[in-house]
Amino acid sequence: MFVRKTRLLTPGPTPLYPPALHAMMAADIHHRTQDFVGLYKKTVRDLKEVMGTSYDVVPLVASGTGAMEASVSNLFRRGDRVIVLSAGKFGERWVQIAEAFGLQPIVLKAPYGEVVSPAQVEAALGEPGVRGVFLQASETSTGAQHDVEAIGKLVSRTEAILVVDAITGLGTMPLDIHGWGLDVVIGGSQKAFMIPPGLAFLSISPKAWKHAESCDLPHFYFDLKKEAKNALEGQSSWTPSTALLLSLSAALDYIKSLGMANLIRNAQLLARATREAVTVLGLKLFAASSPCSAVTAVCAPEGMDSGVIVKEFRERFGAIIANGQGSMKGKIFRIAHLGYFDFADLFAVIAELELILAGRGLPVEFGAGVAAVQKVYAEAAMPREAVGA
Ligand SMILES: *Cc1c(COP(=O)(O)O)cnc(C)c1O
Repeated sequence: MFVRKTRLLTPGPTPLYPPALHAMMAADIHHRTQDFVGLYKKTVRDLKEVMGTSYDVVPLVASGTGAMEASVSNLFRRGDRVIVLSAGKFGERWVQIAEAFGLQPIVLKAPYGEVVSPAQVEAALGEPGVRGVFLQASETSTGAQHDVEAIGKLVSRTEAILVVDAITGLGTMPLDIHGWGLDVVIGGSQKAFMIPPGLAFLSISPKAWKHAESCDLPHFYFDLKKEAKNALEGQSSWTPSTALLLSLSAALDYIKSLGMANLIRNAQLLARATREAVTVLGLKLFAASSPCSAVTAVCAPEGMDSGVIVKEFRERFGAIIANGQGSMKGKIFRIAHLGYFDFADLFAVIAELELILAGRGLPVEFGAGVAAVQKVYAEAAMPREAVGA
């Protein structure tokens, strides 16, 4: 037996930023006090800053799905025709929520690992009476990303509003809310924001608020208009999660000090290094044509269940990585890059992967994958003279 630390390496929940975890200890505050008003106002202001928007941003006590539901139940009407881009398990969730509230989704389906093209969206926007378009910026279940910029620009020319599940897109890819016409952008606490699950938030454009005026769908707990109005006063409508807001505030301080652009670049570099490493090791990428930077989905070697790899990561190295979801279970495993992940994490993950594959009898040259990661790091972060030699 050796010492073995448990490390959370999944694409949500993600590794926690320690000061954000410690900040939760100060949760013995009451939410109808000036201390809380200050905290809430600051947190909303910081969220706007890192999201790069002057639109209203509304926090909700819920996992990400709660904000997805709120965007449907607060902005649409029974029977509304909407376009849903469905490229994985989270796209399927949009379809389920839309149907649960009596909308009529036109579903543009892409096979797992692929995405829906802007041309397909453009064609569907030709249908009469479309009032909304829903998509995932990055589809965490497959590791693929949509062309949010192109789709945003198409939708902004129509009466429809664009609702972006950016729950793993925020902090891993550029999202120009104003420039690209993103009416609703949804985030969640347990992804690139480095804190535990339980908070969601969404930005809401003036065009989306206009949709809200004619909404006839039932909602009570998730009342976006009420929340936005209260947020201006530094208040939440209901008892908030004071612990998670304290935590988020601390994580946002860190993200601001780093710069959102650098957090994004960090994920992008880790994703690129991972793709190069697994390719060197002879493995295939699952979403090869439009890979996202939140998570890399890797196909298990021919004839091997990916669950075996996930289990060995956990049992040998205490590394909790993600299997595939739904029908992808057993076929892929997923290595995350969003939020509080660094190169040291990735050196270890790839070294562990090499050992696991070798242990299963695959021809692996020890260090080949790790070297691919080192090369990406050296090129991106070390002065040339220090590296070359
Ligand atoms: C994590 C995630 C969600 C939200 O899931 P919850 O379990 O409700 O937090 C939604 N969409 C995507 C793309 C995600 O990665």
